[in-house]
Amino acid sequence: MELNNKSLFKEKCYVNGSWVESQSGDFLEVNNPATQEIIGKVPKFTKDETKKVIENANDAFQTWKNTTAKERSVILKKWGDLIVENVEDLAKIMTIEQGKPVAEAKGEILMGASYIEFYAEEAKRVYGDIIPDPRPGKRIVVIKQPVGVVGAITPWNFPNSMITRKCAAALAVGCTAVVKPASQTPYSALAVAELAHRAGFPKGVFNIITGSAKDIGLELTKNPMVRKISFTGSTEVGKILMEQSASTVKKVSMELGGHAPFIVFDDADLNEAVTGAMQSKFRNSGQTCICSNRIFVHEKVYDEFLEKFSAEVKKIKVGNGLDEGVVSGPLIDKSSLDKVIDHVQDAVNTGAKIAVGGDVHSLGGNFYQPTVLSHVTTKAKITFEETFGPVAPLYKFSNDEEVINLANDTPYGLASYFYSRDISRVWKIAEALEYGIVSINNGLPTIAEIPFGGVKESGMGREGSKYGLDDYLVIKYISMGGI
Ligand code: NAP
Repeated sequence: MELNNKSLFKEKCYVNGSWVESQSGDFLEVNNPATQEIIGKVPKFTKDETKKVIENANDAFQTWKNTTAKERSVILKKWGDLIVENVEDLAKIMTIEQGKPVAEAKGEILMGASYIEFYAEEAKRVYGDIIPDPRPGKRIVVIKQPVGVVGAITPWNFPNSMITRKCAAALAVGCTAVVKPASQTPYSALAVAELAHRAGFPKGVFNIITGSAKDIGLELTKNPMVRKISFTGSTEVGKILMEQSASTVKKVSMELGGHAPFIVFDDADLNEAVTGAMQSKFRNSGQTCICSNRIFVHEKVYDEFLEKFSAEVKKIKVGNGLDEGVVSGPLIDKSSLDKVIDHVQDAVNTGAKIAVGGDVHSLGGNFYQPTVLSHVTTKAKITFEETFGPVAPLYKFSNDEEVINLANDTPYGLASYFYSRDISRVWKIAEALEYGIVSINNGLPTIAEIPFGGVKESGMGREGSKYGLDDYLVIKYISMGGI
């Protein structure tokens, strides 16, 4: 890997301010999803090693929690600046382990840095309250304090920004963190740790460990010193972590799976809707939790939308994310590819027609053709399951009530999108959609300033914005008498 700054490629865990290997010497191999080549290996930490890291983080918390928001902000800002300065190298590392095109990787890394910038400022505004006391001679004071050691577990689809989104908020308010990144993308996480080290976080404040998800997850969730679990990943694993966290009654936040509806009403600007559908469906080869997974189009504009959308999808250049002009990389692994193949096959078997793509890509490996399916029926698996791939299923609807019911007919509730120019409809639909995020005439709703998160089985808690701080804070009521 040709990097300007070779020391960003780390094959050790970052623990208590140092780079360490596992005691056993066991490791996990990491591969490039575009070529299947092994990139390198990272340590396989055990439960006991994880316990030691938590103890260090707890020691560090005793001091870090007493620093001022301003002191923490200075280090955080430096961390964010270093990430921006090293964006080229970080993007190369990300593309090689995750597959997304370099330009898209850069976009994610800059977004990741924007969370750090935001929280470096926002944590200065962790205000409390003085509540008027109805009792004479007494006062009610409310303060907010950092919750303690945070265990963060993150997915492979956003190997940088899912870590910074959690940890910027946690560290900014005075928590310390032990992070376990996805085994498929540890190098982006370890590079970010190297930059955190250079930014000057005291030892033990920020730690990244790699290894068996089950072992590390068990220790993070069961250890009483960890007071908060912040997880981004599948609903299935989120439920396991919630159960495990119950034994020590931890605060949890869960950013889980999605199954976003994308609705095009007959009064929509169709060109804008096509642009929005391209952004929300094909970013990261369809592997984002807010990717639209069901595109509902009003019968009056269905044919026109299908034609315009299909024409755009045909232009997508698929390939190795390091190559010039590529906008869609490989899927992360064979099982993701198999799921996409299964969803398309099943949709066709239940009545759908292939408008674009519909098969594995001639590049082989984990590559799949960007695909549009028309006339998909509600019998198809894709109607109920998150696909996590470059497949856009189109459904026809005829009225508002019908499409609201279709859109809400899922246990998920993360992101939803719709296109309309009718102000009355805009309000009605926005209020009726059972989702944490409703994006109107906008295919890219995520930025640092918004409260990102879901309802129903898409999770709980919010990341980004002032609300994102609440997940790392506890409220203390101080009662004062004798006044
Ligand atoms: P995943 O299988 O749930 O893995 C996510 C993380 O959990 C990885 O670090 C994984 O480690 C770890 N993990 C797996 N099993 C575990 C266990 N038993 N105990 C503790 N940790 C465990 O999800 P994924 O396939 O990587 O990511 C895709 C999913 O994430 C999709 O459902 C997507 O919608 C969701 N997602 C949600 C958001 C959001 O903000 N709502 C954002 C991005 C993605 P290993 O890699 O070592 O297995």
